[in-house]
Amino acid sequence: MRSTKSRPNASRIRADTIVIGAGPAGLGAALALGDSAVVLESQDTVGGLCRSLMLDGAVFDLGGHSFTTPHPAIRRLVFDALEMEEQKRDAWCWLNGEWVRYPFQQHFSELADPDSRHACQIGLEAAGRWRDAANFDEYLDHRFGRGITELFMRPYNRKLWGADLTRLDTDWIAERVAAPPGVAESCMSKNGRRSPLSKEAVIAYPAKGGFGEIFQALAKRVADLRLRQCVISIDPKTSTLRTTNGETPPHFDTSSARVAAADPKRPCCNKLRGVYAGSFAHHSCDVGSKWKTRDASPTNLLSRREHHRP
Ligand SMILES: Cc1cc2nc3c(=O)[nH]c(=O)nc-3n(C[C@H](O)[C@H](O)[C@H](O)COP(=O)(O)OP(=O)(O)OC[C@H]3O[C@@H](n4cnc5c(N)ncnc54)[C@H](O)[C@@H]3O)c2cc1C
Repeated sequence: MRSTKSRPNASRIRADTIVIGAGPAGLGAALALGDSAVVLESQDTVGGLCRSLMLDGAVFDLGGHSFTTPHPAIRRLVFDALEMEEQKRDAWCWLNGEWVRYPFQQHFSELADPDSRHACQIGLEAAGRWRDAANFDEYLDHRFGRGITELFMRPYNRKLWGADLTRLDTDWIAERVAAPPGVAESCMSKNGRRSPLSKEAVIAYPAKGGFGEIFQALAKRVADLRLRQCVISIDPKTSTLRTTNGETPPHFDTSSARVAAADPKRPCCNKLRGVYAGSFAHHSCDVGSKWKTRDASPTNLLSRREHHRP
């Protein structure tokens, strides 16, 4: 019997592009690439942070999600995939026993307590040096002042992001935060393509089930999607990508493939070596159209695929 060492490619699966992760970014990549891509997802379901859970017969999203996009093609993609319902955005904050319209920083004057109103107003007037903030926590203080930040912004954002705000960057988060009253929205994103939702925004949600239904529906259009395949290593020397699913790990041949990771900052991906393309970035709910990393845009992936055809 010949050893597998003398036939290194015998048990390996070949693919033009290997996409790690079936969150919105990975699914977007796969849809853009068509049947030349293999998607490997560590969980037993798709959607990443946009997935929904069923608990005691009720549907829960992993954090409140709604769908909106400035890109007609992305809207068509989602609305063709499943039935969506739309409505004008109508959001409120529950604060110290009263309802205040969201975003709080634009409606704190509705607070019943005069001291709280005053603290917000004074802080806001003293604020304004936010462009050089070192992190998101500092950004909130600098942009909105102490009153608004302590009363609402800090506790709300800690809960929303589930993270220490001093460890979050301002570049891609601050662009999601509405400006104070009377201040024009200024998009902080480097690519200048994102701004917070306006008061008039119309948002959409699946007519049935949770937000995750969008990604379940899109996943049906992906040619080769493999669940329970956590990528554990990529070895450039042997051109081998390994996954584990608790059974025999399959090996993927990366000698002529592009490898793109949906979110390599997550702990699981931190262990990866040799990831070629870097992250798809954070605007991936636009299902692929807004990747902003240096070398992993859908166009680049597609052109590389063409380039590598024999
Ligand atoms: C509280 C909250 C509210 C939000 N609200 C909205 C909203 O209303 N609208 C909106 O558009 N966006 C919203 N977002 C942002 C949205 O959830 C993210 O932008 C989106 O999920 C990012 O998609 P992604 O594919 O890049 O990453 P993820 O969603 O994190 O997906 C990554 C996928 O990769 C898989 N994976 C990781 N490592 C490996 C590995 N080694 N091998 C195989 N698979 C792996 C993971 O299991 C996961 O499925 C919200 C986020 C939060 C936290």
